[in-house]
This record gives sequence, structure tokens and C-alpha cells, in this order.
Amino acid sequence: MKTIATPSPIAAKKLCADANYGSVSEVSPGIIVVLAENPKDYTGPGTNTYIVGDEQVWIIDPGPSCDQHVCAVMAAVGERAVAGILVTHTHMDHSPGAAPLKQLTGAKTYGFGALSAEVMALTDEEVDVDFVPDLALSDGQTLGDGAWQITALHTPGHFPNHMCYRLENKGMIFSGDHVMGWSTTAIIPPLGNLKEYLEGLDKLARYPTSAMLPSHGPVIESPAKRISDVRDHRMARHKQVEACVRRGVRAPSAIVEEIYTDLTPLLIEAAKGCVEAHLEMLFGDSVHEQPARNDFVPTGAASSFA
Ligand SMILES: [Zn+2]
Repeated sequence: MKTIATPSPIAAKKLCADANYGSVSEVSPGIIVVLAENPKDYTGPGTNTYIVGDEQVWIIDPGPSCDQHVCAVMAAVGERAVAGILVTHTHMDHSPGAAPLKQLTGAKTYGFGALSAEVMALTDEEVDVDFVPDLALSDGQTLGDGAWQITALHTPGHFPNHMCYRLENKGMIFSGDHVMGWSTTAIIPPLGNLKEYLEGLDKLARYPTSAMLPSHGPVIESPAKRISDVRDHRMARHKQVEACVRRGVRAPSAIVEEIYTDLTPLLIEAAKGCVEAHLEMLFGDSVHEQPARNDFVPTGAASSFA
């Protein structure tokens, strides 16, 4: 199958070796990134917090709530007013920093919205249950104006309340965890959904985009190609899962053993989740005969995902 970067200890290690935590770097005029020191298999070197604008700035993805990171973000903001704090989604590596940054800047927080307690009870993923945005955004809603006008794009699939943010006048998209350059994205049912994920890729592909700025890893310089590669990769995996099912290999753990290599224990759990997402799409589409219920061994959600 076509080779594409997937979460791997080697990729994460290399990115971490090059990481410069707490440093401030300009990725494009008016767009600064501060890297949080929260490296894991699924976050690469850590979370990118972006500071966007000139006299007035937006903070996109506050990251973890740790003093070192919050201080680095505040230093990068400097004396400038903060227009708002935007959250891509409520995994623990993205939204907890919103609370201290709100306290320090007085800015309002924005995001798709919190999940209900019933929905959050369905998963073991590391979810920020405390984050509730001051202003809940809907798909297509715009914020600000002029050069730094932002459009919120609802892109579930990795997580139900995931938003990407498009800088309208610069043709750039803050892609959160939906599209990353260093790795593919974990899609773990029941909150992850492969069909929605693919629809989100199609949605992003409709915009002319000069660069994507993900919440982990480096800037994506060729967004259209990356979206196409990620889609191809998912469809190739789908075929592999389908082939396993046809041969009677139906337990997610057995399918993972057949089609994935070089995974750490955490990533094995992530891979099981992805296989479940493919099975869900396969049988949800009613293309194939569903296996007997006791042939399908649910593994439960993995412990945590970026
Ligand atoms: Zn995430």
C-alpha cells in the first residue's frame, strides 16, 4: 500500500529531538507558533499554540494548562490585546490552557461547544470535561474582519466538536488534528467516525489553501496533496480491513496484527480504534454481510489520543 506518515515512535522521536520548547517562531508574517512541551506518541513533539494577528491577536489552540507554556504564550502576545481564544477540540492536549489564558487576558473563549456528560461517558479518551466556550461557534461562522478574518469549519471525525479555522484573506487553515503532516489522525469510535472524517477532508479540499497549520508537527506546505494522500491512505486501509473480514479475520486486534507494523503499546490501542472505525463504516454501509456479534470483539476506546 502507498506509504504515508503514520504515528510512529521513530517519527515522534525525530520531531522531539528537533523541538525547541517555549521558543517563539514566526511561521508566516503575523502568525507565531509556541510549542508546548507535551510530547507523546500521538502528539509528536507537542501542541502548537498559534498567535495570529498584528495589533490585536487571536490565540488558536491554547494547549495544556502548564505554567511554562502559558507563560511562553503570554510573552509572545506581549502588550497586544487578545481578540479571542479559539479551541479546535476538547482533547486534553488542546483546550485546558484556555482557562488560565482567559484569566490573564480577559479574552473570551470560542469553540464548537462542550459535549454532553452522556456523550463523554462513552469514551475513555482524555477529554477536557471542564471546557465550555463563552461563545459556541457553528459551522461557517466568521469572526473578526479585515486581514485576519476567521471562518470556523466544523470537522468531526477525529472528535465530535472538532473545528478547523480558516484565515479567509490569507488562504490558510488551522487544521487542528484533522490534517497533520507528520502523522495520520486517530479516529476512535464511538466518538470518532470515519465517514464524518472523510467528509471533513472533502470539506477542507474545497477551499483554495496555500498552507495548513496543524496543532502538532510542522506546517503543511502542500495542503491539497496532503489531503489527497490522507484520503488515499484511509481508503487503502479500508480495503485491507475489508480483505481481512472476507477471510474471516474480524477481531480488531487480529486485524491490527495483520496490517500494522512497528507500533508501541499505546499506538496498538489507537490502531485498534482505527480498525473499529473502518469496520463501522464497512458494516454501516451494508456492503458486506455482518459477522456474528460474537465474532466482533470490541476493544473499547483507547486510553488517549491527540
Ligand atoms: Zn485530538
